[in-house]
Amino acid sequence: MIVVTGPSGAGKGTLIRQLLVRVPALAVAISATTRSRRVGEEHGREYWFLEEVEFAQRVAAGEFLEHVTYVSGHRYGTLRSEIARIAAAGGVCVLELETEGALNVKEQIPGAVTIFISAPIPELERRLRDRATESAGEIGERIDLARLQLDQAAQFDHIVLNDEVERAAGELTGIVQRAIRG
Ligand code: 5GP
Repeated sequence: MIVVTGPSGAGKGTLIRQLLVRVPALAVAISATTRSRRVGEEHGREYWFLEEVEFAQRVAAGEFLEHVTYVSGHRYGTLRSEIARIAAAGGVCVLELETEGALNVKEQIPGAVTIFISAPIPELERRLRDRATESAGEIGERIDLARLQLDQAAQFDHIVLNDEVERAAGELTGIVQRAIRG
């Protein structure tokens, strides 16, 4: 299992898309969330978008490997069914998680390879503002959290600085290919 983590705006999603093209054995586990859908996002593609009540019921039923409450009270979690789906198809599972969830997975699955995607705070702020998918208040909250998350970087197996997408995607691909070959 490959876990890609790091602060919001570091470019985890972009780098994972590049990674999937370069390493076909990989498949992304689609997380569940209670946040609302952004323009262009689809239920069952970017996320399983759940109502609060359903999310809570599925937590109680033990359906999540890990779950967190993120900024603005939105909940996110990794469904065990996603991991089972990918394993059944013979794929290698990729999780994209904030840092708390990533540390939780590492504890439960010690063989998981964890990769922290890093970027300087001004760059994170610029990307979140350019993306313009959150309100100014929520961007501020995400940046405050990013400062704490950057301090956690050393707890992960690898750190990749996303200074330039092509270069960072190449570095990430190398790490993942070496991990898969064991
Ligand atoms: P966004 O709202 O920007 O899609 O995601 C916010 C944060 O939640 C990102 O850092 C993303 O990596 C993280 N995230 C997405 N899915 C999960 C999940 O299933 N569990 C955890 N712990 N974090 C997640």
